[in-house]
Amino acid sequence: MMNNPLISQPLEWATFGDLVICGTTDGAPAESDALCIIGAQRNSVDPFRSALIAMPGPTDRFWETTPLADMSPAQWEALCDGCGKCCLEKLEDEDTRQIYYTNVACRLLDHQSCRCKDYLRRARSVPTCLTLTPALLADPYWLPSTCAYRRIAEDKPLPDWHPLLTADPGSVAAAGHSVAGRVIAEGDAGPLVHHLVDWVDLPG
Ligand code: SF4
Ligand code: SF4
Repeated sequence: MMNNPLISQPLEWATFGDLVICGTTDGAPAESDALCIIGAQRNSVDPFRSALIAMPGPTDRFWETTPLADMSPAQWEALCDGCGKCCLEKLEDEDTRQIYYTNVACRLLDHQSCRCKDYLRRARSVPTCLTLTPALLADPYWLPSTCAYRRIAEDKPLPDWHPLLTADPGSVAAAGHSVAGRVIAEGDAGPLVHHLVDWVDLPG
């Protein structure tokens, strides 16, 4: 049985704008031969919060001109498309760094809305909920290829279904990139290797 190696990692606290965020240090040892669970590597961006923040107008393409490190908290939050993919458990091949996603969701993820059910206290409830920061995005291989933060960090455009381009939060699900209704709870899952899925890391 594989355990989550990040559980025992020390926490590091930081602030980003008005957000107090928490994450684990990386470099956690793996207990299995080839795969380690990194399902705890998640983001701290909450779709609910994002929805509350007035989106910049479609013509204000700040993500094309503003470096991640210089974005305002509102801009940073608006980048999140609310897909919920980063709140899924995942496995990593230690040799290749290949990520394998599962349909097993963090216990705090609302399966329909893709919102964190305890966003403000998530760091205490799920100590391994990893925070996205500009520094962390220097090596964002563990995020889905569609993730806006990863794409910006890799100098790629946002997918054309991103709400910042469509002005419609529903465009994520319409394009097949939301986890809503497609996941199961941790407590019901059993071994993660039984829950690998191929619909998470599709091209944007
Ligand atoms: S994968 Fe990226 S865009 Fe999707 S919810 Fe997570 S942080 Fe937001
Ligand atoms: S606690 Fe779970 S559901 Fe909430 S943001 Fe972190 S990974 Fe996502």
